[in-house]
Amino acid sequence: MLKGKTALVTGSTSGIGLGIALRLAAQGANVMLNGFGDHAGPKAQVEALGVKCGYSGADMSKPAEIEALVKATEAEFGSLDILVNNAGIQHVANVEDFPPEKWDAIIAINLTSAFHTTRHALPGMKARNWGRVINVASTHGLVASAQKSAYVASKHGILGFTKALALETATTGVTANAICPGWVLTPLVQKQIDDRAAREGISVEAAKRDLLGEKQPSLQFTTPEQLGDLAVFMCSPAADNLRGAAINVDGGWAAQ
Ligand code: NAD
Repeated sequence: MLKGKTALVTGSTSGIGLGIALRLAAQGANVMLNGFGDHAGPKAQVEALGVKCGYSGADMSKPAEIEALVKATEAEFGSLDILVNNAGIQHVANVEDFPPEKWDAIIAINLTSAFHTTRHALPGMKARNWGRVINVASTHGLVASAQKSAYVASKHGILGFTKALALETATTGVTANAICPGWVLTPLVQKQIDDRAAREGISVEAAKRDLLGEKQPSLQFTTPEQLGDLAVFMCSPAADNLRGAAINVDGGWAAQ
């Protein structure tokens, strides 16, 4: 379905971003990976699906590197058709203890980077009259949790950005939508589970159970593959008129 299209997925060396990249590749899209840490393994996984795969270590907190990433994607593959703004970080602390530099980094990576990728990718999408901007927000784009002020602000912000962008592109073949995952067992969440187990003197398994029990009624983690399949749907003709939506995949979290 996506043969001939190119997807840039920010923060795709692990977790949800990699899950989305693999599902888009399975539909035939070429993929530009981005993120820190090992990239040879993820690149080999994408290439095994028979598509072309590039990699850039551009830092999503640096506007000049973001612009270079978009330009490099267009130069290497000829177009950038599917932009998945996924890179994200977390820090947990009460407001009065929240390090200001962590606040700035979270807003820059989780929110502002999507503005920069989008503003550079949009002219090409509009010229071809087809494009998909998929923002990976969170249930924390819809509801809050204590000690996550910067993260919650960034995720509420990206839902606002998604809606404004959807209005600006409403009469074109470019759509903008958001995915709002609940708990997904990735390194970002594993750290919160490990911290909780250490803090409360309980096992990692018990910490996992408590984490789910507190927020996610299904008591099941959402998987990166499920989110990848939702991204594929957002790229399908069935979603041509899906605009400015924020779809929860959160086991019922936001329904409470
Ligand atoms: P993860 O830690 O597994 O992956 C994060 C990715 O972002 C990695 O590839 C990392 O290298 C990259 N990254 C981090 N800082 C970067 C930077 N400055 N520049 C470029 N890349 C950078 O985390 P994840 O859980 O897969 O999270 C992915 C997205 O999903 C984030 O936006 C996160 O907020 C969101 N999310 C996660 C969950 C969850 O439960 N895991 C729930 C809701 C939303």
